[in-house]
Amino acid sequence: TYVVTDNCRGCRYTECVTVCPVECFHLDESMTYIDPENCIDCGGCAPACPVGAIEPDYRLAADKKFWIDVNRKRAAETPVISGRLPALPGADERRQALGR
Ligand code: SF4
Repeated sequence: TYVVTDNCRGCRYTECVTVCPVECFHLDESMTYIDPENCIDCGGCAPACPVGAIEPDYRLAADKKFWIDVNRKRAAETPVISGRLPALPGADERRQALGR
């Protein structure tokens, strides 16, 4: 499965949602999460993310593996998002700070 990680927090661009062929993406007030039960591993969302927040689970660094459980848990607790939303305030500044 693909996993949303910390770079999404505070940005939440939601470009990922527009490319996902199935309804994987959920969101809360700070970021999106991928439902691992629905993800078909197409890989479309990873290059679409402006801040590089999405990676396949097997490629996560050791200190980012916990995001697998976070995505599973939060996807179960939060609503599906089926369309693009405006990025969060300050997202562009945050992206620049990340060197993106
Ligand atoms: Fe959706 Fe494909 Fe990303 Fe899975 S890998 S969340 S199916 S776009």
